[in-house]
Amino acid sequence: MKKPIVALVGRPNVGKSTLFNRMSGTQDAIVDDVPGTTRDRLFGHAEWCGVEFDIVDTGGIDPDFSKQNTPLSIGSSEFISEIRSQALIAVKEADVVLFLVDAISGVTLADREIAEILRKSQKIVDGVEKPPVLLVVNKADSSRQRNLVAEFYELGMGEPFPISAIHGTETGDMLDALIQLFPAQDKEPEDDSVKIAIVGKPNVGKSSLLNCLVGEERVIVSDIAGTTRDAIDTKMMYGDIPVTLIDTAGIRRRGKIEPGVEKYSVIRSMRAIEQADVSLLVIDATQGISVQDAHIAGYILDEWKSVVVVVNKWDAIEKDTYTMQAYTEKIRNELNFMPYVPILFVSALTKLRVNQIMPMALQVQEERLVRIKTSALNEVIHEAQDKHHATSKTGRSLSMYYATQVRSDPPTFLIYVNDPALAHFSYKRYIENQIRERFSFIGTPIRIAFKARR
Ligand code: GDP
Ligand code: GDP
Repeated sequence: MKKPIVALVGRPNVGKSTLFNRMSGTQDAIVDDVPGTTRDRLFGHAEWCGVEFDIVDTGGIDPDFSKQNTPLSIGSSEFISEIRSQALIAVKEADVVLFLVDAISGVTLADREIAEILRKSQKIVDGVEKPPVLLVVNKADSSRQRNLVAEFYELGMGEPFPISAIHGTETGDMLDALIQLFPAQDKEPEDDSVKIAIVGKPNVGKSSLLNCLVGEERVIVSDIAGTTRDAIDTKMMYGDIPVTLIDTAGIRRRGKIEPGVEKYSVIRSMRAIEQADVSLLVIDATQGISVQDAHIAGYILDEWKSVVVVVNKWDAIEKDTYTMQAYTEKIRNELNFMPYVPILFVSALTKLRVNQIMPMALQVQEERLVRIKTSALNEVIHEAQDKHHATSKTGRSLSMYYATQVRSDPPTFLIYVNDPALAHFSYKRYIENQIRERFSFIGTPIRIAFKARR
């Protein structure tokens, strides 16, 4: 099921990231501490009264516009153009736009500017503006400030909802109003195909690879165009396995490309990753792996999804016997938070090794669903403990009693111990490596939680 997307829009400093963090507090039962994933999140999950949705902080989408840099002066052409592209992203990609303003500063020129852009880019569908905009007045910390919010009616965005993101007060009414604005969900038929997303920066060859993968098989079942904002799903059979390829590049082939469109692909990629089991992270061999690629990989891990790195355009670089090894090391180094990732070197142009992509993706998915016998698992855990005891400065050491796989997809293990506080990250990594040595889980993150045995 596709969750609604809510985009936060507003000038800098109104509290977008504060509200984002408050709304997208992690809901995972087993919270894991994976290094390399503790960067700023722009895309998160939220829930209110049982309704789940995704939330995007458009303020963070463009790194040039982040708070770390000197803020652009208000009214400058760069400022206006940034605000414009953020608002456009929100209107194009989101189901509801949450327009944030600041009670302390009152209505500002930049707020008026944003309201104007939002209004102009909304579309009228069946007599109503799409997507709807909810006007939220943040920093209304006191009742005195809450009483002053009427001045924001001036923006022509309907009723202003006062909240205090920092204190978390008064957000209930706002969230009630927000979920009312979500579009009715169509029931999608359950589909047991393996979902594979093709993600990566623009121009790395995603569309070319998709054409190869689909052309190779020539048994396309149907070609369903998603809604205007979703990726295009191509359903096909690979042998006797139903597969859905989720193509994030396809959208650009439709209609004219607007300025700033590349940034839209961030939200689109997130969405595709969320829907997929396995993501093919495509990298351009002529450009090498970039910070942005590592960022996408980090998102895949955040979602606990599986990944295959596909280095495309391998035809276009000069090679000797060491090139592939050096390249592999570079990628492993950049993606050191996911050492389990398989890497393929391919060319969509010459078809070099393209036929290895699907078997690899399907193997990854198969291992993602594996259930390990408890006895085999405990053998590994006890052998690991015998080989290497976790030591601690206090002299107390970790004892692992019993392990069990509590779920697959992704594989999740619970290990009963004397005291979970004694299980440090490095030991957890060691245990993970021991499990992988025996059971592989190629391309798939695994979760390990330690629990005290009562
Ligand atoms: P962004 O630039 O829109 O993402 O804004 P931030 O979330 O970074 O917040 C900007 C500043 O406003 C920070 O200093 C926050 O601590 C502060 N802030 C955020 N929410 C509130 C609030 O509800 N009340 C008050 N008084 N300050 C807030
Ligand atoms: P996308 O934006 O990621 O979907 O990338 P495209 O599939 O549109 O490809 C971008 C450009 O790279 C096009 O000019 C392709 O012809 C070129 N290209 C794609 N795959 C390869 C490849 O394997 N080798 C070479 N040399 N060029 C490629």
